[in-house]
Amino acid sequence: MDLPHDQPRDAPDGRMPGRMPGRTHGRTHGRTHGRMYDWMYDSHVHLSDPEFAPVIGGMLRCMSRTRVMSCCVSTDAASSARTLALARSSPLVIPFVGVHPDSAAEGPDGALEIAADPLVAGIGEVGLDPAYPRDGQLATFRAMLEAAARLDVPVSVHSRNSLDEVLDVAASYGVRVLLHWFDGSRRQLARAMELGMYVSYGPASVRAAGRMSTARRADPGLILAETDGPVRFRGCFGGRPGGPHLVPSVIAGLAGALGRGFADAAALLGRNTRRYLGARYNTPPPATPRSEQDPPALGRGA
Ligand SMILES: [Zn+2]
Repeated sequence: MDLPHDQPRDAPDGRMPGRMPGRTHGRTHGRTHGRMYDWMYDSHVHLSDPEFAPVIGGMLRCMSRTRVMSCCVSTDAASSARTLALARSSPLVIPFVGVHPDSAAEGPDGALEIAADPLVAGIGEVGLDPAYPRDGQLATFRAMLEAAARLDVPVSVHSRNSLDEVLDVAASYGVRVLLHWFDGSRRQLARAMELGMYVSYGPASVRAAGRMSTARRADPGLILAETDGPVRFRGCFGGRPGGPHLVPSVIAGLAGALGRGFADAAALLGRNTRRYLGARYNTPPPATPRSEQDPPALGRGA
């Protein structure tokens, strides 16, 4: 049975589970919310991380109710396989396949095999990071960039303490690049903007207003919101795991930095994310998720 997208499957009369009969506030609110803000996006989150496994069903329902879609990035071949399984269960999960620099020793082949699946929408998390063993990092990063160019999909890039080198390497592939958790200087931001690369800001930026200073100098058309969940954030976030539930907070922080209202910022970031993702995501997701209730079990590794 096809149900309106914001209507829980276990509440066919439109009531929120657990609400008293006759009270329909939840249903009305969801529809109003949807009209106001369209879809919001978490441009970089690790939904297939084992830490989310016990709560992923609730997270997907929360994403549906709050109208958040997520670019689910992967860190190795095993997590890429889990990401793909999750995306088969919900169209709110936009699957990215990748090898994080911390896993570069495994090489690109396993992830590349999974990237051949037509459901794969992007490559990531890939990149360079001097904090991890350098063996294989550059070769794996280049192989994943080549795959993104061949498949015409966007890339989610890790550039901690390696931004200049990442800019040098990625610029030559002609792919849509997101410099996730952007923490570069004004000069590096200017170069990224010249190259047409996207930059994303997350909960850490909301907490430390100074980090938003580069957002004010960025091309508004190249800014995205992210959470990098399940990374934990201190301060107002209380050290709890990040995730798509924090997207409205991140958008509110960016709205303040950009001098825009919330709805205006949400619409801007939504347009930016759809452009980054490419033609496949220019239309809203189907009215009925493939399954909000029964996502696949996510095991540890494989
Ligand atoms: Zn990440």
